Amino acid sequence: MATATVETLQFQAETKQLLDLMIHSLYSNKEIFLRELISNASDALDRLRFEAVTKPELMEGDEKLEIRIDADREHRTITIHDNGIGMSRDEVVTNIGTIAKSGTRELVERIKKGESKQSIAELIGQFGVGFYSSFMAADRVVLVTRRAGETEATRWESTGDGTYTVEPGEKDKRGTSITLHLKPEDRDNGMDEFSDRWVISRIVRRYSDFVGYPIVLTAEKDPEIEDLAKEKETGEKPKMPMEEKVLNSMKPIWVRPQSEVTQEEYKDFYRHISHDWTEPLKVISYKAEGRIEYQALLFVPTQAPYDLYYVASKPGLHLYVKKVQIMESCEDLLPRYLRFIKGVVDSPDLALNVSREMLQQDRHITLIRKGLTTKLLGVFEEMRENDHETYLKFWEQFGKAIKEGLSADYENKEKLLELLLFYSSNDKEKMTTLKQYVERMKEDQKEIFYLTGESREVVENSPHLEAFKEKGIEVLYLIDTVDELMIQTLHEYGGKKLKSVGKGTVNLGNEEEKKATEEALKEKEEQMKPLLDLLQKKLDTWVKQVRLTNRLTTSPVCLVGAEHDYSPQLEKLLQKGKGGGPKQRRILELNPNHDILGKLRERYDADQNDPAIEDYAHLLFGYGLIAESSELEDPVRFNKAMSDLMARSL
Ligand code: ADP
Repeated sequence: MATATVETLQFQAETKQLLDLMIHSLYSNKEIFLRELISNASDALDRLRFEAVTKPELMEGDEKLEIRIDADREHRTITIHDNGIGMSRDEVVTNIGTIAKSGTRELVERIKKGESKQSIAELIGQFGVGFYSSFMAADRVVLVTRRAGETEATRWESTGDGTYTVEPGEKDKRGTSITLHLKPEDRDNGMDEFSDRWVISRIVRRYSDFVGYPIVLTAEKDPEIEDLAKEKETGEKPKMPMEEKVLNSMKPIWVRPQSEVTQEEYKDFYRHISHDWTEPLKVISYKAEGRIEYQALLFVPTQAPYDLYYVASKPGLHLYVKKVQIMESCEDLLPRYLRFIKGVVDSPDLALNVSREMLQQDRHITLIRKGLTTKLLGVFEEMRENDHETYLKFWEQFGKAIKEGLSADYENKEKLLELLLFYSSNDKEKMTTLKQYVERMKEDQKEIFYLTGESREVVENSPHLEAFKEKGIEVLYLIDTVDELMIQTLHEYGGKKLKSVGKGTVNLGNEEEKKATEEALKEKEEQMKPLLDLLQKKLDTWVKQVRLTNRLTTSPVCLVGAEHDYSPQLEKLLQKGKGGGPKQRRILELNPNHDILGKLRERYDADQNDPAIEDYAHLLFGYGLIAESSELEDPVRFNKAMSDLMARSL
């Protein structure tokens, strides 16, 4: 319901900060405001058409959908009209008065702290604040809008300085009109005059040529020679009649042959559909002919959107049927893990009035999804093979999504495996694929070794790697949080099992060597059994077994899990979740060749009831935890053991 009086409302703090940034920082490329407003108008028309499929009355008898621009040089205004879906009063307040996007605060903080290497324009683009760009060119903006199907209109006005007003407005038809009162300095600085029809035509052709609705400019005709002569005589500017002109070709970009479309045009189109101002990393134009016909124009962004890994992130390609948009974000065209892909799919084989529910079961859509997935995975693979630098950028942004795919897209598992990149002990900087790892495997090495951990540093310095380093056996470092989950479904590659060096027992070398070390270890263990049992008893709450290992060369101790236990990182992750996860007991492994163990044994042999042994048990356990960057289970007990030890030895 409209309120009868003028209401003055405050912008949210973030909105105001963002406005200040826009007004003062984006000076050089002001003209993009027109692209943003046209893009919003085009979205509003799409939305109307989509809603009118089920509610034809929304068209109100006016089915000629278009965007109109009125340019008034005399008063220095430019107005963009659309007869799209429009907004109710409440929608104006939520959509225009606030920046609802959850990342805005974060964005403002990042800009203020100068944390980001990106330009402000790029950052702002990621968060989609298109409407506000009008304040780069205007010092006063008036928006009048009427929601399709409603009778009352709303007028919104602001000078971009912290407040805006909302009141009932006058509008005899549905849609939105936005009037920009241009800033005076444009003319003074010799900048483009945005109420000039040539300037407007150029900007529209440059950025919005592909928009699927006519963009009609109404402006004064150019004066003829006689008119100019008259002006000279009288000193008065001639009043010219108004003229209407369609500025854009409206040709969908994906229909045009690739050779005729410039990279600039692709980029502009990408901005239009993605609201992302950074350039796309890759443009993929694809035409499928066969069981089902369709065309796709897909973009891999350069940067992952900030909400890519939030459950609520809204993915989806634009779906067109015979060049008419029928859905703005169709989630069924790609598997969820590829939700970062932007673009358009156009197929003549689908029904025009297809609903979201029907789409999920549509045979054609399933075929398109399969086709597009294959195409995209092929493009990624090709990029990895032939354009590694670009692939590294891609991997940094979307590697997590690809890993997610591994547990979701069983059909393409083999292809996804080839896309994985890992850091490893082989190279300090370069990442490796699984294939490259296998090629470097030692002759008698049967398994692919990996270690999960919080960071490269922790993993690299972990005692678990000691024997591997000594023998020159490569270990993959799985340091992404999602790696823990991924590894649950990744059991083997190319017939080679993946094995954590933090779990089970380790025995390296050829069969003969293995047998010899195993026997030697067994013998030592038998000799020390009473001591090992005693240590276990003292740590029983947290440790299920104490044993000897040949995993270690320099460290005295490490903690491992049984073959099917969760890693400490995964355990932590699970415990953070609803209801918490199980707390597992660990296996404490001791290095039989370390001095500490020798001396501990001497102490035990001298006096089995020596109370210091319990202290050492706690110290060893604490050492193992700290080495893998886990928290101490019982810091009080650890500290007491430490201080007692210091008191004894000082
Ligand atoms: P974005 O377009 O990225 O969402 P904007 O700041 O440009 O961000 O617009 C905010 C919202 O205002 C849009 O999402 C839309 O809901 C609404 N809006 C803007 N312009 C129009 C318009 N011409 N007609 C209807 N709604 C509009």
